[in-house]
Parts: sequence; structure tokens; C-alpha cells
Amino acid sequence: MTYQLPSLPYAYDALEPHVDTRTMELHHGRRHAGYVERLNHVLQQCTDLEGLSLEEIISDIRVVPEELRQELRFNGGGHLNHSLFWHILGPGKGPKRPEGQLLRAFESTFGQIEAFRQEFARAALSRMGSGWAWLSLDNHAHLEILTTPNEDSPIMLGYRPILGLDLWEHAYYLKYPDRREEYIQAWWNVVHWDKVAELYVHFLEMVSRT
Ligand code: MN
Repeated sequence: MTYQLPSLPYAYDALEPHVDTRTMELHHGRRHAGYVERLNHVLQQCTDLEGLSLEEIISDIRVVPEELRQELRFNGGGHLNHSLFWHILGPGKGPKRPEGQLLRAFESTFGQIEAFRQEFARAALSRMGSGWAWLSLDNHAHLEILTTPNEDSPIMLGYRPILGLDLWEHAYYLKYPDRREEYIQAWWNVVHWDKVAELYVHFLEMVSRT
């Protein structure tokens, strides 16, 4: 299977002023495009994996020949992570916080939404170097905050991510050079909670069927 760079569901400048246009151009048009290109290159060398989805491959990386494993883990994770990242962001037209079923899950897991934001930001700030902060569902459909290094996906750990924050410097350094905390605070303004809630309900249904 050949993967393609998903088109951004909004313009490069749509997340201004919180995420700047140039960062978006480079992040989507160069960085993510690069992951897709290298992922396809690696997959061309593992014809045995045809028929498996990228999620299936990533969740059991041992199916990949050892000499290609690291490259597939990095570029495959990068493709999945960024595809989710673009999807759950938007120009701030939706609600400023989760609603409905997701809100109730938030309240029973974290208490007030502000407590969740603080816990998530703490996790994001404690991740040294490059990586991601996530809100994911575990096997029992419980919400959990976790972080991963590099381009590792929560899918590798058996989680289903519904919200992800890119903590690589390439995601913020043009506008917030060494100020990850400021980037995290600004980022909440462009989270598209309706999309996060859709993913939540989707995975909830999946888990309840298994
Ligand atoms: Mn990135």
C-alpha cells in the first residue's frame, strides 16, 4: 500500500496567531511529507506486509524485518501521529471544551476540565526532548494521559489516541523559540473538540464490541 500526505482540512494560516503559517507550511508540507515518502520507501522493501494496515504493523512492530524496523517505526509513527494531529486541530470555531459524552468521561476521570489541562501540560513539559503528549483510551475505554518519545505512537502501547500534542521543536520554535509552555497554552485555542469527541465515541463503540 502506498500512503499519501493527507491534505490539511484548513488553510496553512488558519491557526494564526496561535500556530503560525510558516510553521504549518514546513510542518505539514515538508516534515509530514518526508515521513510519508520514507514510509513508502521502507514499505516497498517489505512486501510481506501488504494487506496489513499501518496501525496493525505499528502495534506489532516485530512483523517488520529487523533491519527496517527502526525506520518503519519512526516514519510510520510520524505519519499516523501527524495525520491525527491535523485532524484534531481547527480554526477555533467549535466549543472551547469537550461536550456531551466526552465531557462526562473527562469529569469522572480528571474532575474539572482545568484539572485535565494542567495534568496534560505537566506531562507535556516533563517529556524530555522530542516526543508527544497524548490523551488516549486504554483497553477498558478509560481516558489516560501519556507521553511518547520521538515519533512513537500510543498504538504501539495498546492505546487508542484521541488527542495528541506534538512536542518536537519543529512544531513551535519559529514562534515560541524556547517556550514550550507558552506553545502548549496557545495550542488549546486551536483544539477542535468536536473531532476529539467523534474519535472518543468511535473508539468507545469499538471497545464495547470486543
Ligand atoms: Mn511534528
